[in-house]
Amino acid sequence: MTGIDQLPLRDELRGKSPYGAPQLHVPVQLNTNESPHPLPEALVRRIAERVAEAARTLNRYPDRDAVALRAQLAAYLTATTGHPLDPAQVWAANGSNEVLQQLLQAFGGPGRTALGFDPSYSMHSLIARGTGTGWISGPRTEEFGVDVAAAEAVIRAHRPEVVFLCSPNNPTGTALPAETILALYEAAQDARRAVDGRGALVVVDEAYAEFSHRPSTLPLIEGRPTLVHTRTMSKAFGAAGLRLGYLAADPAVVDAVQLVRLPYHLSAVTQATASAALEFADTLLGFVEELKAERDRVVEELRALGLDVTVSDANFVQFGRFADAGAVWRRLLDHGVLVRDNGVPGRLRVTTGTRAENDAFLDAVRAVTKESDE
Ligand SMILES: *Cc1c(COP(=O)(O)O)cnc(C)c1O
Repeated sequence: MTGIDQLPLRDELRGKSPYGAPQLHVPVQLNTNESPHPLPEALVRRIAERVAEAARTLNRYPDRDAVALRAQLAAYLTATTGHPLDPAQVWAANGSNEVLQQLLQAFGGPGRTALGFDPSYSMHSLIARGTGTGWISGPRTEEFGVDVAAAEAVIRAHRPEVVFLCSPNNPTGTALPAETILALYEAAQDARRAVDGRGALVVVDEAYAEFSHRPSTLPLIEGRPTLVHTRTMSKAFGAAGLRLGYLAADPAVVDAVQLVRLPYHLSAVTQATASAALEFADTLLGFVEELKAERDRVVEELRALGLDVTVSDANFVQFGRFADAGAVWRRLLDHGVLVRDNGVPGRLRVTTGTRAENDAFLDAVRAVTKESDE
């Protein structure tokens, strides 16, 4: 048996673990922010039709630039943000993780650094590592927001080429006000302009935008060529298995990621499936409204139990505080409920499920907190 350490692996990957939430099969799985709703049958039939159509030309490479799909995504963003977007401002890949990787391949890399504000989405630093980009972890406040003065100080000190602002943030659920995003965008431009006159790329990861109480900050990309917003069909569209993520930015950013993307990266089957799902956007956004109401109910019920619950603009809720979050995680699992321990001290994260799943989760929390009182 060859161990990974015997391989001529890159030094920065030695001793590291891969990204991974445990994929355990238990009755109530509320750990990976998926939608609890299977796709509606009418959409399943439409996908079958569109995939059959695509299958007839699978001897050919797919549309390398996914032009039709990007036009549909631009129309979706225009309809939901009220801000007109052109297909040239949109780019799509296999999950927003691939979009983020392409951005770091184009704008990060050896000798460059990216900054994020932790706790946040761990894939930002993992993709930085995978692309040889340095990583700087900036601070969050006690309430898991970003303090502008503290963030500006970190930006001035490190002058990163790339800044990640996750809003609504995973795993805390907190969204950033537009003023914060604008202030940090300006600070990042100023810091880099002082070095090479070219500014910095600011990436707002909006994976949960559709679940937010706040309007999307995506329209701010207008006139700001280094401000990018990334989105995904994994969460609001309830299509995590599809692997379709996208970005909206200045067309120049789209030109830049095309320098690093693999040719024909987005399969014809993926493009056809995503296109079919977009035809059902209204139905799928109806599920989002139900989930938002359920999320707000879970927040209230957890607060009624005396727990400390972070304000949530996403499809999950961060709750605590526990002396030993790991122990609470295991006891919830004993009750058949899988939540996520993201390593935030004293806190756990629960994805919003169906009403019945959320009730099962709340019952388990009641049982577990009662056991610890005894
Ligand atoms: C889930 C999630 C993503 C989505 O990744 P996909 O690759 O599109 O499934 C991106 N960013 C954040 C913050 C997420 O939580």
